[in-house]
Amino acid sequence: MKLENKVAVITGAASGIGKEIAIEYAREGAKVVVADLNLDAAEQTVAELQANGAEALAVSMNVTSEKDVNDAIQQVINNFGRVDVLVSNAGFQTIAAVDELTYQQWKNMLSVNLDGAFLTTQACLKHMYKQKSGSIIYMGSVHSKEASKLKAPYVTAKHGLIGLCKVVAKEGAEYNVTANVICPGFVKTPLVEKQIPEQAKELGLTEEQVVKNVMLKDTVDGEWTTTKDIAQAAIMFASWGSNALTGQSLVVSHGWFMQ
Ligand code: NAD
Repeated sequence: MKLENKVAVITGAASGIGKEIAIEYAREGAKVVVADLNLDAAEQTVAELQANGAEALAVSMNVTSEKDVNDAIQQVINNFGRVDVLVSNAGFQTIAAVDELTYQQWKNMLSVNLDGAFLTTQACLKHMYKQKSGSIIYMGSVHSKEASKLKAPYVTAKHGLIGLCKVVAKEGAEYNVTANVICPGFVKTPLVEKQIPEQAKELGLTEEQVVKNVMLKDTVDGEWTTTKDIAQAAIMFASWGSNALTGQSLVVSHGWFMQ
């Protein structure tokens, strides 16, 4: 098993991509911390993991709250004594044109995606530096590399994660802490399912047209990326084992974006 006895904190792990990473990490032997705003759903995920024999813990965490983040990571240390992997994954989407966005919508997006990544990184790094090892993985997007209409704060925040990752990679190297970004294409999770009717309304298209002509149009094969595809990339980054693979961003998108 590639992650035996590693303690992995995954934010936003009560749903979608984060939940799949929790399941696949547990399968690889990790002790998994399911950190989410939605504690009931996090506890449900943990119950599923434990039913399959995994060690897992649910923690309540709003990634935009410094207190929540620090308390939750302290709870992880109290339970497991260390933290080896952080997957900073919590996120959401807002669909609106730049001239129609509210300032509050803009700030909320940057707060969850960027402040959340910073706060969870800082809380985990303290322990990783003492351990002299660790892996930080940010959930970027093809929108870390490319833009789409109606997604200004999301595109801005996801681009910003690459900057944070590169600095953490440089500062963390002497402590054997790596930092990398996964950039998924479109994955059919609740986050995307919610966007389909919203985009249809904004763009004056049918929902089928949004999927075919907007979301999957630029893939090489018209296919969705799956949560399992993303979990495989997350396993690779967490188990690499040296500073050779750090400061990188990996696009997993059926060719929606090519480097
Ligand atoms: P999802 O909606 O299925 O899950 C997101 C989870 O994050 C939920 O459990 C939610 O409760 C949690 N969350 C939201 N705000 C939070 C906060 N402030 N603090 C703690 N938890 C919070 O979404 P998903 O599609 O699995 O997305 C996960 C990540 O993947 C996001 O960062 C998203 O931007 C990124 N991503 C998704 C896609 C896609 O197509 N689904 C593509 C590229 C990137």
